[in-house]
Amino acid sequence: MKKVIAAILTAVLLLFCTACQTEKAAKEGGAAVFLPVESGQPERLAEETPAPSSDAIPFPQGGEPINRFDLQFTLDDASHTLVVQEKLKYYNGTGNGLTELYFNLYPNAFQTDGGGIELKTFEIEGEASELAQADGTVWKTELPEELPAGETVGIQMEYIVCIPNINNRFGYQDEVYNLGNCVITPAVYGENGWTVEPYVDLGDAFYTDIADYTAEIEVPDGYMIAAGGTETQPGIFEARNVRDFVFCAGKAYEQRSAEVQGTEIHVFCDKELPETGEFLLDAACKALTLYNELLGRYPYDTLTVVSSGLTGGVSGTEYPTLIMVAPEVPLEQFEMGISGSDGPGREYYEAQLAVTVAHEVAYQWFYGIVGNDQIQDPWLDEGFCRFAEYFYEQEYLPEEIEGFYWKRERFKDTDVMQRGGNENTISDQTKIGGSLYDWLNEPAEYSSGVYDKPAAMLYQMMLQMGGEQFLNALKEYVAVFAWDFVSPGDFRAFWNGKEDFSELFALYMGEA
Ligand SMILES: [Zn+2]
Repeated sequence: MKKVIAAILTAVLLLFCTACQTEKAAKEGGAAVFLPVESGQPERLAEETPAPSSDAIPFPQGGEPINRFDLQFTLDDASHTLVVQEKLKYYNGTGNGLTELYFNLYPNAFQTDGGGIELKTFEIEGEASELAQADGTVWKTELPEELPAGETVGIQMEYIVCIPNINNRFGYQDEVYNLGNCVITPAVYGENGWTVEPYVDLGDAFYTDIADYTAEIEVPDGYMIAAGGTETQPGIFEARNVRDFVFCAGKAYEQRSAEVQGTEIHVFCDKELPETGEFLLDAACKALTLYNELLGRYPYDTLTVVSSGLTGGVSGTEYPTLIMVAPEVPLEQFEMGISGSDGPGREYYEAQLAVTVAHEVAYQWFYGIVGNDQIQDPWLDEGFCRFAEYFYEQEYLPEEIEGFYWKRERFKDTDVMQRGGNENTISDQTKIGGSLYDWLNEPAEYSSGVYDKPAAMLYQMMLQMGGEQFLNALKEYVAVFAWDFVSPGDFRAFWNGKEDFSELFALYMGEA
C-alpha cells in the first residue's frame, strides 16, 4: 500500500519513455494490443496471447504441489453481496500431520461498515463440518482425521460476502466494486505452527501462501470485470502461483492495453478520465520495463491496473497481477482549470501518480514473488517497494519537480539515520522492524520504520557494495526467495553473505 504523504515538493515534465509508448485501444469495446518498441510508434500486435518470455523468473517446477482454488463468484449489485462457491484442495506441505486448519476471513473486519461473511455451508471431503472463530478474522476447523504430511484434503464452502459501502480495496461506491480479500484462504503454517494473525486496519495485513486459482465470475449486466490472472474464456480467469485472487467490477470502466516484454498490461479507468487512463498505462509500462530489468523478468502474462476509489490517505494497493490506484487529482481537472492555481501543479500530481504506480508494481516482486509475513514484518515488502521508487524516479522523472517529495536526495544522504527518514514526523531513534500491531501504537513513526528507513538502508547498502554488485545481488535475492517467504533473519543472512553489513544493520535495525 502506498500512503499519500502530503508533501512538499515538486513535479515534472514526464519524459515519455520510448521503450513503452502506448496507444489507446481502437477496437470495438476493447483492447487492441500494442507492442512497445525502442523508438517510434508502437506496433499493433497479433491477437493471440503472447507466450511469456523464456527468461522470466521461472515458476516453481517439479517441486511440491500447492493449494488449488476453484471459485465461482456471483455479484449482486442490488443487495451488494458476492456469493462465493469455493472448492479448495489444501495440500499439507507443513511436514507435520495436521489435526486442524486455520483460515482468514478478512471481510469480517469490516462488520461496522456493513461488511462480513455469512457462511452457508462448510464441508470437508463432502461431510458437513464446522468453522469456528479462533481470534478476530482467523477461524479454524477440526479435521475429522489427521491429514498426513504430503497429503491433500478437499474443502468445499459456500458463503455470502456482504460488501461495505466504503472507499476501500474491499467496498463499493456507485456502480464500482473493489473485491479485495473476499476469498477465504488458509492461514500460513510456519516454523511455530499456525500463524494466527487477525486483520488490523493498517498497511497490508495479509500473509498467504502461493496457490493456483481458477475463478468464474458473474456480474450484473453492464459491468466490466477487471481481475487478477488471465481471462481464458469470457468471465473465467486463471491465476497461477499467486498469493491471492482479486477482482473489481464497474459500469464506467474503459479498458486500455499495451504489451511489455511478453506481458499484457490492462488499465481500467473511468471512461470520463481518458487522460488519466493513458497516463496510468504509460506509467505501468515504464515501471514493468524497469523492474523486469532490475529484478528479473515478471513471470505472469498479465498485469492489470484499476483506477478506483480507495480509502482517504491511501493512493494505491496491490494484489498479485492486479493493482488498484486512486489518483489524488484526475489529470483532466487541469485541462478544465479546476486544480493547480494555488497548489502544486500538474507535474506534481503526475509524478505522484507515476510513483504510486511504480510502488504498487514493485510489489509484484516484493510480496508477490518473494513473500513475507506482512503483518509481522511489513518493512520487508514496503521497504523494497519504496526503494524501487528511487529507480523509477531516477529513470523517468526529471531532476526537479516543485512540490515533489524527492526521495532520491534523501537516500543519497549518508547521514540519513541522524536526520530520520522523514524530517517532518519521524524521530531519529525509529528502528526498522516491528509488526503492524506495534505500529498501530506508534502511527506517527510507521512511515519511517516500515517505508523510509528500510529504503534508506537499502540505498546505503548499495553505496557500500557498489551499484553493479548490489543490483546483481538484488536479482539473486529475488531468485533465491521466489515463491517462498523471507524473514528478517533470512534478509540479514543473505545480505551479510554478500558483504559485511553488520555496522549498517546495527545502525538501522539494532542488533539481531
Ligand atoms: Zn506499499
